[in-house]
Amino acid sequence: MKITSAEFVMSNSEVAKCPKESLPEYAFIGRSNVGKSSLINMLVDRKSLAKTSGRPGKTQLINHFKINKNWFLVDLPGYGYARVSKKDKKTFQKYITAYFEKRKQLVCAFVLVDIRHEPQPIDLEFMEWLGTHGVPFAIIFTKADKLKPKAIQRHVTDYLQVLLDTVWEEAPTYFVTSSTNRTGKEDLLSFINDINLQ
Ligand code: GDP
Repeated sequence: MKITSAEFVMSNSEVAKCPKESLPEYAFIGRSNVGKSSLINMLVDRKSLAKTSGRPGKTQLINHFKINKNWFLVDLPGYGYARVSKKDKKTFQKYITAYFEKRKQLVCAFVLVDIRHEPQPIDLEFMEWLGTHGVPFAIIFTKADKLKPKAIQRHVTDYLQVLLDTVWEEAPTYFVTSSTNRTGKEDLLSFINDINLQ
C-alpha cells in the first residue's frame, strides 16, 4: 500500500466522541518507549505525525489519523509507565477499556513489544484481556535493528512459545520491525491493505 495521505483528525479520551465514520480502524498500543510513535511515523512516511519523545507516557489520548482517506490509524497511549500516578492509570484503563469494548470499527489492535525484552506480564495480561474480549490483535516486535538476525528469530520463537505455554492455542500474527532501518513496513501495510480489500 502506498500512503497518499495521512491527516490528524482528532484526539479524544471518550470513545463516544471518536469519529462517527465507519472506516476500518487499526489501533497501535504498547508500553511507553516501545517505539510506537517512531513506527507510526515510519508507516505513514511522516517525520512527526505521531509525536516521538524521550519522555514516556506523554501521549494521553486516543488519536485518530485518517490514512488514504479510507482507514483510520489510532495511536493509543503507552501503558506501564512507572511515573504515572495511580489516578492516571485508572483513567487510562477506563477509557482504553471502553475504546476496545465499544469501538465496532476496530479491525485489529497492534500490540507493540520491544524485541529485546522477555515477555512482560503487563503485555501478556493485556493480550489475554483482548482475547477474552474478542478483540483481534497482532504483535509488532519493534527495534529489530538492536539484534542480529539469528537472535531476532530466537527472541520471536521464545516469545511466541510463552504465549502458547499460557493461554493461547495458536500463535498470533506477528511482524518484526525496525523504524531505524525502516523494515517491516511493507508487510504491515500489506496486511492492513488485504483486510481493507476484503
Ligand atoms: P513511544 O514512547 O513508544 O512512542 O516510543 P518512541 O517512538 O518515542 O521511541 C522511544 C525511543 O526508542 C526513542 O529514543 C527512539 O529513538 C527509540 N526507537 C524507536 N524505534 C526504534 C527502532 O526501531 N530502533 C532503535 N534502535 N531505536 C528506536
